[in-house]
Parts: sequence; C-alpha cells; structure tokens
Amino acid sequence: MAVMIQRPKGTNDILPSQVKKWHTVEKITNDIAQQFGFKEIRIPTFEDTGLFVRSVGETTDVVSKEMYSVTATGDAQFTLRPEGTAGTMRAVIENGILNEGLPQKVFYQLTCFRHEKPQAGRLREFHQFGCEMVGSASPRADAEVISLAKNVLDSCGLRDIVLNINSIGCPNCRPNYHKALKEYFSARKDELCGTCQERLEKNPMRILDCKSPICQEIAKGAPLITDYLCEECSDHFSKLQGYLGAMDIDFTINPKIVRGLDYYTRTVFEFISTDIGAQGTVCGGGRYDGLIEQLGGKATPALGFAMGLERLIMTMQKQECDFIEEKKCDLYIAPMSEDAASEAIAIASKLRKEGYFVEYDLIGRGLKAQMKYADKIGAAFVMVLGSDEIESGKGKLKNMRTGEQTDTDLGEGLINTFSNAVIGEMFSGIDEDIAKFTEGGNG
Ligand code: ATP
Ligand code: MG
Repeated sequence: MAVMIQRPKGTNDILPSQVKKWHTVEKITNDIAQQFGFKEIRIPTFEDTGLFVRSVGETTDVVSKEMYSVTATGDAQFTLRPEGTAGTMRAVIENGILNEGLPQKVFYQLTCFRHEKPQAGRLREFHQFGCEMVGSASPRADAEVISLAKNVLDSCGLRDIVLNINSIGCPNCRPNYHKALKEYFSARKDELCGTCQERLEKNPMRILDCKSPICQEIAKGAPLITDYLCEECSDHFSKLQGYLGAMDIDFTINPKIVRGLDYYTRTVFEFISTDIGAQGTVCGGGRYDGLIEQLGGKATPALGFAMGLERLIMTMQKQECDFIEEKKCDLYIAPMSEDAASEAIAIASKLRKEGYFVEYDLIGRGLKAQMKYADKIGAAFVMVLGSDEIESGKGKLKNMRTGEQTDTDLGEGLINTFSNAVIGEMFSGIDEDIAKFTEGGNG
C-alpha cells in the first residue's frame, strides 16, 4: 500500500461531525456584526509581503519568524495572510471606500497562517472573525467594538471571560515611555533572551510581549505605560472606561498588554478565557490610528479586533455551550426491488423540491440493513416500497418515533399527506414540551 500523506503540522481537518460548531459561531458572529451595522468584506488569502512588513511590523514575531512567504517564478514575493487587518485596510484604501462616508464598518471570517510551534489553541492555519471600524477617533468607537466582541462572546453562551484593557499611547507620548523602558531593560540586558536584546534597540515595548519566562519575570518590574500617557491619551482612556461602565461591561486595566502587532495606538484590549489553558486569549484588538496613512491612504483613525474561532469553540466546548443542531432526515425511502427504486427516486425528487430532506437506498441493501441506516441518520419517517406498494400505488408512512403508520397514495396525494405528517410530528414535539413545562410548573 502507498504511504499515506498526512495533513501539515498545525492544520486541522474540520470533519462533518464537527462542522455544526463552526456553523454556530459563523452564524452568531455574522448576526451580531450586522446588528452593529458592520458589513462583510472578503479579501485575498495572500498579499504582497511588503504589506505585512509595513503594517504588522518588522520586529514582531509574526513578521520576523512566522510568515509563510511564497514566490512563483517571475512573480513578486507574496505572503499568506497572518492576520486580517492589513489586507482589509489595503482593500479599504485601494477601493476608495474611505471616500464613501465615515464611519465604515466591515467584518470578516477568514483563515490566517503563521509558522508557530503548534500546541493546544495555537495552530499554523487558524480562523479569525474580525471587525474593523474606520473613520472615528472617538472613544465611543472603542467602546462600540469592545461591546460588539462582548456581545458575540455572550451570544455564544460563554461565562467568566475577562476583559483586559490598556492604552499604549500615541506617537506623542510613547517615545518617553520607550526611553524609560530602554533604561530599565538595559540594566538587565544580559539576562534577556536573544530576540529581546535586539528588541531593546528597535522596539523595547515588544519585550513586554515576550513569551519567555525569564523575560516575563524581568518585565514584571518595568515602568508602566499608564504613567507616561499624554493628556489626550489619558482623556481618551478614561472616557472609554466611562462608556464601558455605561454599557455594564466589566473590565480590568492591565498596563502589561501591548499586543503582538506594531500598528496599535491608544486602546488595546483582550478577552481572556481561563478554561483553555495557556493560549487563553480568545479575542484581541485595539486602535490603529496611524495605519491607514502608513499604508498610503489619507490619514484616518481606525480600530478593530480579531477573535480566534478555534479558541472560541474550544472554550464553548469546555463550558458545554449549545451548538446548532444537525438537520435531521425527514424521510427515508426503502425500496425492495429495481422498480421500487425508480419509484423511490421519483418520490424523493418530488419531496426535495418541496424542501424536505429525503434519502433512499443508494447501495442496494436488504430491508434490515436499510432500517438500521434509517435509524442511524435519525429519519423521522420511513416508507418501505415493495411490489404491493408499486402495484397498488399506495404506501405507508411510518413515524419512527411513535411507530404509527399513515396510509398514503404514491401519486398526487403524497406531498399533502407527507407535509401533514411532518407538521403533526412537529406539533406533537411542541405538545410534549408544553406538557413537560406545565407538569414541572404544577409539581
Ligand atoms: P497570542 O498572544 O495568543 O499569540 P496574538 O497576539 O498573536 O495571540 P492576534 O494576532 O491579535 O493574536 O490574533 C487575534 C486572535 O487570533 C488571538 O487572540 C487568538 O484568539 C487568535 N490566534 C492568534 N494566533 C493564533 C494561532 N496561531 N492559532 C490559533 N489562534 C490564534
Ligand atoms: Mg501570537
């Protein structure tokens, strides 16, 4: 036998048995984004490498170590998107969306690619739901996107998700903070990891984001950005806190969060779950007022977030949240002969046109095996077609829950009889629920 080729490390197959979980989060994120007036955008899977270098930043892990770059002969260098913001902003600028009236609000669901060390909650190909708002410098916009993310997490049924917020200042006040950080870390330079020794020169704030335990330990005593904010940044940050309060959204100020990408200014935030281990950041985002100009567009403030869908689903599973249920088969037709099979095909195709979920035997199995299959797929009704049925043009619909049989003709009357049977079954389910409810209420 040939050697089996396996999927690349850090990628996942989403199997039919799992896909309802994805449909659930895709539906919730779609619905909530639209409630806030965000419209979907779809962008290419790969972009010019320069786009990510310029936006995400050269000193970030994402750009310096984790990019999947590809070149086809004679082509420019492209990179599989490691995140969605850069491509989205490129598209917004390139397509003149900035001139269509502000604010512009877009959301996306896309795959991202990062060459990281795979572990629980950390993949090389993963999915993000993201929202970006362009055109507002007001802290109200910050509160709005945070509340959108919070709404998604709540609608997924999650509990105990902690919101951390911080302000990382602006080009006015950050240089002073950088200076203070440089002084602090220079004193312990030899203890820092190799990457952080480089970061010390180029971008000392990145050290606060280092995952090495030694660097994290040293960073504990580092100066705090909140002590270095200029008046405008301070004011922006305290207004945001006021708005979050007005929306009843609990938060913790965490001066240590700087986020892994360079383009952030002022507000940064993370939603963290303690239920899925070390990779607990389900959602991260912030304001990036300088990015659009940096990418060649006209200076426009903007902000957004991205939510990791694998981590979201992991947390939902851990907390036993509900997922959309699989649609069940309405009717399974079991033909007992070649003639009956033709009839089964005709009936199935008629009922499918009416919107029903119908299956029939495709393999040529005997009755017993077919009934086992019907049971396995959870068919609500079964119709056996033997020579008697074909001759008389009359069959029996068997309700698989009650065992009850209903006579039906196989011609004109079938659609009517079947739809009545399905409706009857639907109501009997509701009746049972009501009965359970009133019993519970009286007892
Ligand atoms: P982390 O600190 O966990 O590495 P990050 O700061 O790199 O996260 P962002 O670039 O802000 O993350 O991406 C937003 C979200 O996308 C994260 O909060 C997380 O839920 C998800 N995410 C990021 N990288 C991965 C990955 N390699 N595998 C799975 N999900 C990821
Ligand atoms: Mg990361």
